[in-house]
Amino acid sequence: MRNPSYDILFEPAKIGPLTAKNRFYQVPHCNGGGYRDPSAVAEMRGIKAEGGWGVIFTEQTEMHHTSEITPFIEQRLWDDADIPALRRMSDAMKSQGALAGIQLAYSGINGPNLYTKEVPLAPSALPIRTFTNDPVQARAMDKTDIRDLRRWFVNAAKRSKIAGFDLICLYGAHGFGIFQHFLSRATNQRTDEYGGSLENRARFVNEVIADMRDAVGDTMGITLRVSLDETIGQLGFSNAEVREFIEMNADLPDLWDLAQGTWEDCSGPSRFKEEAAQEVLVNGIRELTSKPVVGVGRFTSPDVMARLVKQGVLDFIGCARPSIADPFLPKKIEEGRIEDIRECIGCNICITGDMTMSISRCTQNPTFMEEWRKGWHPEKMNTKGDSSNVLIVGGGPAGLEAARALSLRGYDVALAEAGTELGGRVARERLLPGLSAWGRVADYRTYQLSQRPNAETYFDSRLTAQDILEFGFENVCIATGAHWRADGVSRQHVVPMPADPAMPVFTPDDIMAGRLPNGEVVLFDDDHYYMGGVIAELLAKAGCTVTFVTPSAYVSDWTLNTLEQAAIHRRLVEAGIKIVLNTGIAELKAGEVVTECTYTGQTSAIGCEAVVMVASRISDDALYHELKAREADWADAGIKSVKLIGDAAAPGPIAWATYAGHRYARELDMPDIGDALPFRREVTQLA
Ligand code: ADP
Ligand code: SF4
Repeated sequence: MRNPSYDILFEPAKIGPLTAKNRFYQVPHCNGGGYRDPSAVAEMRGIKAEGGWGVIFTEQTEMHHTSEITPFIEQRLWDDADIPALRRMSDAMKSQGALAGIQLAYSGINGPNLYTKEVPLAPSALPIRTFTNDPVQARAMDKTDIRDLRRWFVNAAKRSKIAGFDLICLYGAHGFGIFQHFLSRATNQRTDEYGGSLENRARFVNEVIADMRDAVGDTMGITLRVSLDETIGQLGFSNAEVREFIEMNADLPDLWDLAQGTWEDCSGPSRFKEEAAQEVLVNGIRELTSKPVVGVGRFTSPDVMARLVKQGVLDFIGCARPSIADPFLPKKIEEGRIEDIRECIGCNICITGDMTMSISRCTQNPTFMEEWRKGWHPEKMNTKGDSSNVLIVGGGPAGLEAARALSLRGYDVALAEAGTELGGRVARERLLPGLSAWGRVADYRTYQLSQRPNAETYFDSRLTAQDILEFGFENVCIATGAHWRADGVSRQHVVPMPADPAMPVFTPDDIMAGRLPNGEVVLFDDDHYYMGGVIAELLAKAGCTVTFVTPSAYVSDWTLNTLEQAAIHRRLVEAGIKIVLNTGIAELKAGEVVTECTYTGQTSAIGCEAVVMVASRISDDALYHELKAREADWADAGIKSVKLIGDAAAPGPIAWATYAGHRYARELDMPDIGDALPFRREVTQLA
């Protein structure tokens, strides 16, 4: 049963004219599906309702066609045609008594309007501020534009009501919403009554909220999401000014929704931000207002949540990523099942779905955004099929997730691991600088397996094909992982790079096993995700002089999608690492590497004692192929199926491995669908 110290999290609380059933508040979050995948998003939000959230929000919703952020895929409420899709979402949100919220965004200086081709409107005429530095500028709004925009907000509020929402969040945080653009002196350089003093800069938000109250305020709650500290230099909306603004406008919205400055700061990965990292910026704000306050901080610990509410720092616990990793977080706290919480690891893979306009994944919750597409529920598995047992070889993320999910389905599961601990790559990577929270991938699954009577784990069991044939399991799942290659093959070199054996070469596996180079080291990163940056950091801490060479224009290029690229670059510079961009390696010689400009091919040399190669990985699939070669013996051994999954099939991020494990578990014994599409989707209806 529930620990009484968490009771406070289950007390109802008012937001304007409405009451939330508890303090669990799913703040707006993107998912890469948006308007393109309306049923998938609706079902995902519906699962959160089932998981016990008191308030559930949409992602940002473009409230007028004159401001949109193509290529990013969020929601749209441009006219009545968008109402049915949003209605489906609000119905799902409200299915278990939660309040349904819609976040209305007018992107102003942040909306390049690449799709609608409208001229962007902003408080002041400045270049559009996007991730991609689009060559577009905004026109400064005149008084007519401001009147129009106020009317458009009222229209959007009325449509939100028709679409079934209870709450409206006005977006003015992360640099993304027009309210922030008016409030900040960096983006508002007006000299009329909307610019200059804080009172003037706050005029627009006051007008919009007053208009909205007249239109829908009797039945809907209006919340305002502002940045706690804009962190864009002296002109930015600082934490001190935010406090002044809230003090001057204490009762303006029905709830203050406080988010950190930039999105990168607010959704900082665990490598750079602890749980509750924003507490100092939030502390004391609640005393400035009679309205409730929600704040975020990748909260996964109910003790931290209860403390923040008890101490009067927050009224509501805002969660985006923790609600993705475990949509049943509130329910598990309510039922006293703390150890069943699937804690977010703070890897930001979910955000990459939005940044790549694909559809989001979650490392911890492979069912995220598959609730409708594949009918996957985060807590319930499909019923067991005809066979009864499975041997899983390899206890990394893929094997662990397959074992967990299959045991829930009712199969007898044997998990054989060559080593002495579970976790595979995660067991090693969790020891790297800043990555300890990633260990939760293994910890959650190891504990869940320990609770299953039908799952056995065997350590020190490096299996051969002969072993497997002798065991006679009906199904065999090979999840034997991958290792880093030392020959430089990746993107620049598709065959091994020329190398003098006199130059010592180390891989990330060597470093993780404690085999470190000394002295001057060149780290070559042609992988472009986190590993190169993390290893460079580790080597610098160990006393090496590190030169980081990459063919990309950015350090850890792909981490632009996990919102940590700038933080990684900063950390490497602070660690004294020399960064050489746009540069490949032509050849390894004794005592030096010959580098090569990516654009011109011009060569030069860097003297060093060792090279660390962060290139690509090779699947450890030999066992699978051995077994495959003996397919004729399977029937006698009682084997019905053998499948290769995870990094052993094709190396990828950890989220790809947990997904592969989960998919294997879902699909075992299922009828063959042949050439059919393995998921549902919505196709645009022709006009
Ligand atoms: P993935 O990310 O696909 O789960 P990992 O590399 O993290 O892959 O994990 C693979 C795991 O498989 C490692 O823990 C490794 O020790 C184990 N393993 C590899 N080969 C064998 C084998 N022949 N028998 C048992 N375990 C194995
Ligand atoms: Fe957390 Fe990573 Fe899942 Fe995002 S993808 S919710 S950061 S575990």
